[in-house]
Amino acid sequence: MLYSDTRDSSRQVSFRTAVMEGMSHKTGGLYMPVTIPQLSKSLVYRNPVPSFRDIAFETAKLYIEDEIPEGDLMEIIVDAYPFAAPVAPIDRTTYVLELFHGPTCAFKDFGARFMARVMAFFNRDENDPLHILVATSGDTGSAVGSAFHGVPGIDVTILYPTGRISPLQEKQLSTFDENVRALAVSGSFDDCQKLVKTAFTDESLREKLRLSSANSINISRLLPQSFYYIHGALLVHQRSWHDNKIDQPSLIVTVPSGNFGNLTSGLLAKKMGAPIRGFIAATNSNHTIPDWLSSGQYEARPSVATLSNAMDVGAPSNYERIAAMYTVEEARRIMAGYWLDDDGTMEAIRSCYDRTGYIIDPHGAVGWKAWTDTRDGAMSRLLAGFSVPEGMPGLSGGRDIAPEWAADCSAKKCIGMILETAHPAKFGDTVKKAIGREPSIPERLEKVLALPDRSVKMDADYTAFREWLLETL
Ligand SMILES: *Cc1c(COP(=O)(O)O)cnc(C)c1O
Repeated sequence: MLYSDTRDSSRQVSFRTAVMEGMSHKTGGLYMPVTIPQLSKSLVYRNPVPSFRDIAFETAKLYIEDEIPEGDLMEIIVDAYPFAAPVAPIDRTTYVLELFHGPTCAFKDFGARFMARVMAFFNRDENDPLHILVATSGDTGSAVGSAFHGVPGIDVTILYPTGRISPLQEKQLSTFDENVRALAVSGSFDDCQKLVKTAFTDESLREKLRLSSANSINISRLLPQSFYYIHGALLVHQRSWHDNKIDQPSLIVTVPSGNFGNLTSGLLAKKMGAPIRGFIAATNSNHTIPDWLSSGQYEARPSVATLSNAMDVGAPSNYERIAAMYTVEEARRIMAGYWLDDDGTMEAIRSCYDRTGYIIDPHGAVGWKAWTDTRDGAMSRLLAGFSVPEGMPGLSGGRDIAPEWAADCSAKKCIGMILETAHPAKFGDTVKKAIGREPSIPERLEKVLALPDRSVKMDADYTAFREWLLETL
């Protein structure tokens, strides 16, 4: 499989190059597979549904082909995934795909752990160390740090906006040792991302240091996220009839989104043949993509701080990939846009708990509200010509630009899978404020709280950052 550059499709590289470069040095573009391979019918229709690891292996093979021998690929997958993504039914037509069973309790473990092992495999025959730079708005950094911790020949530098993430997230980021370091940047996530992007395009720095990225821009983080969409969709279809007696339901997957890496992986899974009818792109007050879907204009803006802070992204980097896959007209046929403010998020955590007993985190709560609203009338109202006024939260768009599955929703033929992207205990204070009780903390999170802070303070200034890199690495 070859991978092409989103800014110059005539540039095509191997999987290895795409992974090790992270983003195209020549153009600043991102890598995408030149064709989307199809899942075999025997995988999609197998009964019972194959295990998560089997799906991961079969899917990864299609993208990697002979660049990693099958035995090594299987080893990578077994080592990366001692956990899976179970499906929790919470009402007759709603399933939660729980993506928080990895070591850092957020979905980014799926991508980061696969990427770390793939990079370590490709790095085996290099002499110089590889330096990973990663900007994080919350959960990326801990997932990447944890995934690479102790991996030989590779070190990781994490940049995070200090004070703008939860105390537990900050703790998770600042307590790594050995080959993983954290910089506490005074600025926003976009400032962190800019520092990293500037370093990548700094030729004279690259002559001295072998740099790579680990953000959701790396294709080896994106591909493995499609594994759980495929597995989750098959699990839901297998049991749906017993739960709701809907004949041939349309499965709508709701993705709480920030940088849109997760949603892009879902689009890949659908293109590969996973039984998914459509998506809801659910965001907080950083609603650049829902606005793009309704207006047709893409306008990046500065990020604003919200309760679902891992989604506080005003200029989502994977827009470039989505736009390389689909025109806005095509994207509208597949996905609806929805956004929710902080008051709505608190209310959503409460209503999810009251109506189903399920404790959901602020990110998943945005998804819960997006899905239940859409199912329970918002889509029918949109089709009847009643759009949400501009600047107000809710389902965006209008009658003429509704997704092709909109009528299925009004006809009560839709079932929903919500991606629960983090464990609620990571946002214990918010959850407690909403429902009056704290979620129980998994042991793996509790352990981190006892570790000392080792982060280094850094201004959002490229010269200072560059100097630090040259001195430290
Ligand atoms: C990163 C993250 C998101 C957003 O994922 P993207 O791929 O950036 O859209 C949502 N929820 C949580 C908990 C996250 O950590």
